[in-house]
Amino acid sequence: MKAVTYRGVGQVALEDVPEPQIRHPDDAIVKVTRCAICGSDLHIYHGHIPGMVPGFVCGHEFTGVVVEAGPAVRAVRAGDRVVGTFHTACGHCAMCRKGAYNQCQEYGVFGYGVAFGNLAGSQAEFVRVPHADVNLRVIPKELSDEQALFCGDILTTAYGAVRNAQLQPGETVAVIGCGPVGLMAIQSAFALGAAKVLAIDLLRDRAELAERLGAVPIIASETNPVAQVNKLTGGVGADVVIEAVGGPKTVALAFELVGGGGRISAVGVTTVESFSFPLATSLTRDITFRIGLANIHRDIDATLALVAGGRIDPEVIISHRLPLAEAVEGYRMFDSREATKVVLIPGA
Ligand code: NAD
Ligand code: ZN
Repeated sequence: MKAVTYRGVGQVALEDVPEPQIRHPDDAIVKVTRCAICGSDLHIYHGHIPGMVPGFVCGHEFTGVVVEAGPAVRAVRAGDRVVGTFHTACGHCAMCRKGAYNQCQEYGVFGYGVAFGNLAGSQAEFVRVPHADVNLRVIPKELSDEQALFCGDILTTAYGAVRNAQLQPGETVAVIGCGPVGLMAIQSAFALGAAKVLAIDLLRDRAELAERLGAVPIIASETNPVAQVNKLTGGVGADVVIEAVGGPKTVALAFELVGGGGRISAVGVTTVESFSFPLATSLTRDITFRIGLANIHRDIDATLALVAGGRIDPEVIISHRLPLAEAVEGYRMFDSREATKVVLIPGA
């Protein structure tokens, strides 16, 4: 089958690889109908993920049709249209039992190398899904594959970040980064009751896309975001700040944007180990700082329902739909920020 593989820094390729087989009784094989390129794939592309060896199949955001289910699989069967969770969980360990699926003792991420469960990715014609009852959801009849696609990753990541920030109706949210995750955070914040969302990006076109979703755009390369947020909040700062870029620079910015009693929720992926935490300021201003990997299984049913109910429209961010065969060009366009979000279509 055809699949996108990692070849080295700044290099992916379309290659012929063996089709996946059922290995465990609770595995399923999914024929991929849609797969996307995620901001997290760019960390691989930039060579920041140890354990991505040349030849490893990339990709973790996908929908498809179950073609084969192992004998122990109960929740899905051949022919079902499904969306996959980008990270896997076993569903029965102590962590899963308390709902901390992102801390599962068998945690893995599709297409993220040997350090993340050694699971071949979904930018391919077929993908093997372990613990299929837990890591697949049947797509509701009223949703297309593309409408469900981001529920397996960026939409649910963003929704979970807003949920983790304990947003209250009527509050003001600042979102740092208007890439796919940030744009999904804007929609999630409105769905969860934000009165105002201030959207910050370095790029004008990304901030303008945020504006179309109802946010107030702040172009950080042209204006000082701290001064702007201050002005737009009457000098008090944002109640909630969602950091959707990754790394110490934008986390530091979040502390400058948040108001007294406010909550920062960071989802940007970073490999930087330590950060100079503003301890005394957080004490006196009563700031909550939250960071963590997405907990997709906790929130995916809510995001599927919000999309089905017309409260969130994930497709607005798709700028390019390409055949899987053009994935190399898709990576180039997404990395150079020519594309907001690239969806790949196997067999097209
Ligand atoms: P992306 O790279 O497409 O978007 C990042 C955006 O941030 C871009 O629009 C860029 O212009 C903007 N940006 C960069 N530096 C900035 C700065 N200093 N100030 C303001 N804006 C800035 O990525 P994405 O797909 O939107 O994902 C965002 C982050 O979320 C990535 O780090 C990704 O790995 C991470 N992510 C995390 C999880 C998780 O489990 N925590 C899940 C999915 C994605
Ligand atoms: Zn992702």
